[in-house]
Amino acid sequence: MTERKLFLLPGDGIGPEAMAEVHKLISWMNEQGAGFTTDEGLVGGCAYDAHGQAISEDDMAKAVAADAVLFGAVGGPKWDSVPYEVRPEAGLLRLRKDMELFANLRPAICYPALAASSSLKPEVVEGLDILIVRELTGGVYFGEPKEIIDLGNGQKRGIDTQVYDTYEIERITGVACELAKTRSNKVCSMEKHNVMKSGVLWKEVVSDYHKRNYPDVELSHMLADAGGMQLVRWPKQFDVIVTDNLFGDMLSDVAAMLTGSLGMLPSASLGAPDAKTGKRKALYEPVHGSAPDIAGQQKANPIAMIASFAMCLRYSFEMIEEATRLETAIANVLDKGIRTADIAAAGDSPVSTSQMGDAILEEYKALSA
Ligand code: NAD
Repeated sequence: MTERKLFLLPGDGIGPEAMAEVHKLISWMNEQGAGFTTDEGLVGGCAYDAHGQAISEDDMAKAVAADAVLFGAVGGPKWDSVPYEVRPEAGLLRLRKDMELFANLRPAICYPALAASSSLKPEVVEGLDILIVRELTGGVYFGEPKEIIDLGNGQKRGIDTQVYDTYEIERITGVACELAKTRSNKVCSMEKHNVMKSGVLWKEVVSDYHKRNYPDVELSHMLADAGGMQLVRWPKQFDVIVTDNLFGDMLSDVAAMLTGSLGMLPSASLGAPDAKTGKRKALYEPVHGSAPDIAGQQKANPIAMIASFAMCLRYSFEMIEEATRLETAIANVLDKGIRTADIAAAGDSPVSTSQMGDAILEEYKALSA
């Protein structure tokens, strides 16, 4: 049987509560022969309490060696004043850096049962299924120089540098085109070539790489500001959007919020394929944080965490049927009107974190029968 090595990092706040619901799914899938092995580590504030670091070297090594990492959330007021280098978020940044996770995938799916609760009209978002592929390790967040200079005349100058090399644009284009082939086969690349040199290069490299490697995928280009506008005007025109780190940060938040609560949004971060095995390093995590205001109260919505596990099944283990079944289970549970407090409407009686997890597991079992 194939061994599937999962490393779980539940983290702080609602992270462990949400992860417990994924544990239930893994246990049941293993009873059916899925062959997952799991190991668990500490990240964020809990790792600081245990080791004085945001993640230990031992846990880092386990994350790098795993087939996939499932990450909960980190942070909370308890650790607000710890030294900057060991703050909870440093654990996540270290994981992204050491695992070289350069591609961030954020789906925006609108479950029919929640279409009415979007800030947009239901017909604009109902059935929405788009995927934003954001470059995660380059661009203006990392480019040098990055500094504040004292100009000596009572003025200061803040400098960030937007910089991209050909290989960085090529590899993210490759990820976007590969993913498009498993979906509706359309990629829209977004940049600002009208005002930015890095945008000119981005457009040129995307076009060239696409022409050489993915001529059968439909490619279009859009200026990133127009893209933001189109995302709220008529988001269903898009399938896969590929963009840089800065624009991706903003556009993925816009796209995500078309569909409802933070508690619903999964994400994946992928590295390059290994030269020998072809497997990519990967980390899956909900978009939300540790929600200290509701932590430990069984009020958290575990759907973002469970949907992140569905992404893990799809992208790390090629368990496409199981991933689709799990996403269908989530949609069916929502169709039945089962809601945690964050997505409940007036008059609904919200269920707890574990009741939502149990409902999804039962639905998944029924769909597997
Ligand atoms: P947050 O996402 O934790 O919470 C924002 C609001 O959304 C809160 O009212 C919270 O109760 C609600 N919410 C979030 N997830 C929910 C869920 N699954 N179910 C129901 N409600 C949910 O963001 P924040 O309050 O800005 O940050 C809290 C802490 O989390 C901070 O320490 C921050 O640094 C950290 N954080 C961590 C990550 C991460 O681990 N990737 C991301 C963002 C923030």
